[in-house]
Amino acid sequence: MTAAFYALKAVGTRARSAAWLARTRGRLDVAGLRILFYHRIADDRDELAVSPASFRRQMAYLAGESYRVVDVVEAVDLLERGALRPRTIGLSFDDGYLDVAEHALPTLAGHGFRATVFVAPGVIDGSAWFDWYKTPPPLLDWDDIAELDQDGTLRFEAHSLTHPNLLTLEDHVARHEIAGSKEELERRLGRAVEAFSYPSGLFGERDRQLVAGAGYRIAVSCEPGVNGPGTDRFALRRRQIDGRDSFLDFRAKLGGGHDSALPLRAAYRRRRYGATALTTP
Ligand SMILES: [Zn+2]
Repeated sequence: MTAAFYALKAVGTRARSAAWLARTRGRLDVAGLRILFYHRIADDRDELAVSPASFRRQMAYLAGESYRVVDVVEAVDLLERGALRPRTIGLSFDDGYLDVAEHALPTLAGHGFRATVFVAPGVIDGSAWFDWYKTPPPLLDWDDIAELDQDGTLRFEAHSLTHPNLLTLEDHVARHEIAGSKEELERRLGRAVEAFSYPSGLFGERDRQLVAGAGYRIAVSCEPGVNGPGTDRFALRRRQIDGRDSFLDFRAKLGGGHDSALPLRAAYRRRRYGATALTTP
């Protein structure tokens, strides 16, 4: 998609952040579970990249505001046990870019934070690739993934086998993508894989049921909002942090100013993925 779309999105985001600031004077809504997600942490000109400097500032802010930052599975465990304190954030990275280990990991480890990284085994293998890049940035390899998973800061979970649009797939192919990525990742990590991230946040009720049937405990969407005890475990809400976000945007996303999608997103998704490509909330 074009730079014009991202520029427009940034304008919408900024307006919403300003409204949040005026309404709350910057007071964070700290109740419930908000999950933030990123893709890349790099200085590259890439809409999916947040700069290392911005990321450091964002994480330092969470630490300064006494947030507990945990991976997605741990966050949901806390929620289910009724042990979720205010000021808890679930953190995640989609796709498994190498720069997450280079630029995010030291910052996270320094604060004692943990995060989930969702990877697609077929893309890690090189048998599939992300078609939105002309020159894809380097990904973590299997040795990195197995080693990092043991270290305790980053925990790896599944993101389908080849990162397809699940909505376009026949049942048996969708089942293979969803169950196969769990099996393959479990084989590589030697432990149970419990969480699934829908590629590009696109899924329907069929896919939700396939995820539950494959034995996952939870799945994350790209629908923004706050998660509570009653939130569907197979459609957990997450808010993306964008490279164009200002520091105020980050605070507003953290604090409840962006708990619904911008209106233009539905139109964008229809154009990019087709009329049926609407995610369930
Ligand atoms: Zn992805």
